[in-house]
Amino acid sequence: MTEKGAIFSQNVKQVAFNKEHHDRMMARYDFFMCVAKDCANNYANIELEKSRAFNIRNKVFKYYDKLLVDFETNVIKNGGTVRWALDADEAKYMVYTILNDEKAKNVVKTKSILSEEIELIPFLEMKKINVTETDTGDFICYQYNELPSDPNHSAAHKSRSEIAEIYSEKFGVKENLNAKQLMTVTRKVLNDKYSNADAAITGADFIVADTGDIIFSENEGNVLKSIANTDIHIVLVGIDKLIPSIDDISVLLPLSSMYEVTKNKSKSIYTILNKPAKDEFRNQKLYVILVDNNRSKMLEKEQQRRIITCIECGACHSICPIFNTIGGHVYENAFPGPVGAIKSIVDGYEEAAHLATLCMSCHQCEEYCPMKIKISDLIFRNKVEIAKNDGSLLGEKRLFNFILKRVGNRKDMDKTKEFINRFELKQLIKKTWGARREIPKFAEKSFSEIWRDINEIE
Ligand code: SF4
Repeated sequence: MTEKGAIFSQNVKQVAFNKEHHDRMMARYDFFMCVAKDCANNYANIELEKSRAFNIRNKVFKYYDKLLVDFETNVIKNGGTVRWALDADEAKYMVYTILNDEKAKNVVKTKSILSEEIELIPFLEMKKINVTETDTGDFICYQYNELPSDPNHSAAHKSRSEIAEIYSEKFGVKENLNAKQLMTVTRKVLNDKYSNADAAITGADFIVADTGDIIFSENEGNVLKSIANTDIHIVLVGIDKLIPSIDDISVLLPLSSMYEVTKNKSKSIYTILNKPAKDEFRNQKLYVILVDNNRSKMLEKEQQRRIITCIECGACHSICPIFNTIGGHVYENAFPGPVGAIKSIVDGYEEAAHLATLCMSCHQCEEYCPMKIKISDLIFRNKVEIAKNDGSLLGEKRLFNFILKRVGNRKDMDKTKEFINRFELKQLIKKTWGARREIPKFAEKSFSEIWRDINEIE
C-alpha cells in the first residue's frame, strides 16, 4: 500500500466508526431517497431524455477542437476575453494577473469545484487578495478552513450547533442561534461583501459553442448578486463543460438539477450570460478562462473518458453506500465520491489506487445517473489499469490469482475443511479485504462431491 493509501485507510477507519457522522450521512441519504424516487415522474419518458442527454454530450467528444474554437470566437464577438490554461498553475496565475491588472483586491466567489481542484483560494490569499465564498455551504466550510465535503451539499457534515459555535467565534453573534438566525447572519455578512467587491469569480454549468453563452444554475441567487455587483467578472471553467448548441440546454439543465435536495426539488434560478454589462452606468469586463488541467488526458482514455459527460447532478454521491459511510473529506479530492475515484486515474496510478477500492459494484449509482454513465465499470477499468501498470493493487491481484488457482482445482479445496479454506483466504487478503469484513462462506461440499454422492461414484 502507498503512503497516501495508508493515511487514507487510517482516516477512513476514524470516520466510518464515528456514530454522529454516520447518523448525519444517513439523514442526508434518507432525504435524498425521499426526493429522488419522484424525480423520474416529472418526465413522460425519462429513459428517452437520458438518451438525448447522452447523445448531446457524446457529440462533443467528436468535435471538441472545433467546438471549443467556436465558443472562443463567439465570446470575443459578444465582447468578452478568452484565455486558455493548460494546468492548475497557469489557471491560478491567469486569475491573479487579471485581478492584479484590474487592481481588484476584494473578490466574491461562487461555487466552483474547479477552483478547489486548482487550489485557487489559498493561492489568491497568499497574494493578498481577499476572497469571500458566497455559496452558503461553502461559506460555512470556509469558516472552518475546510473543503466542502460534498460538491452539492458542501456543509452537510456540520450540525446546526457546530455552525452556531463557529459563527459566534467569527462574527461575534450570540451562541446557539437557530437555523433561521444563522441564515440572517450569513446574508448580512455576504451583503456587505457584495457591496465592497471589486470582482466576481464564478464557475459555469455549461458553456455553449454556437452562441458563446455561459450558463449558471443556482438556488440562492449568489451568482446573480456577485455578477450584478462587480465590474470584473472572471469565469473559471473546465473545457469539459462545453455543449454544442443553446438548444441542448432544455435537455441538460433540468437533468443536472433534477436531484437537488431542496424544498423546490430543483434549482430555481437559471442564468444565460451572453455578454458583459455595458450601459451608461457600467462598463463590465468579462474574462473566460478555459482550463484543461488533465481533461485532455482523460479524453485520451477510450473507456474512462465517459466520465467527462458527467453533469454534476450529485446522485452518485447521494446514493453510494461507501460515500454515505465515509463522507467526502477522506477522498482528499476536489471531486469526492465515485466521480472523483474515476477522474483520479489521470493524476497517476499511486493517486488513484486507494480510491479505486471505494466501490463494491452495487450499481445503484447507475440507476440514478441521468447521463447513463456506467460508473462502477469505469472504476473497475481504473483497477485493471492500476494493477497492470503499478502494482499498488497487488493485494487484489494476489486474491484473484489465489481464487483462480483454487477454483481451477476444486479437488485441492475439497481436501481441506471449509473453515480452514476461509481462514487461509482471510489471512491472505486481510489488508485489502479489511479486518472487519467477513469472508463469504465456502460450500461445505463441492458440486462434484455432491454429484459423486448422489450417483454413488467413488
Ligand atoms: S456501484 Fe460503486 S460507486 Fe456506484 S453506488 Fe455502488 S459502491 Fe458506489
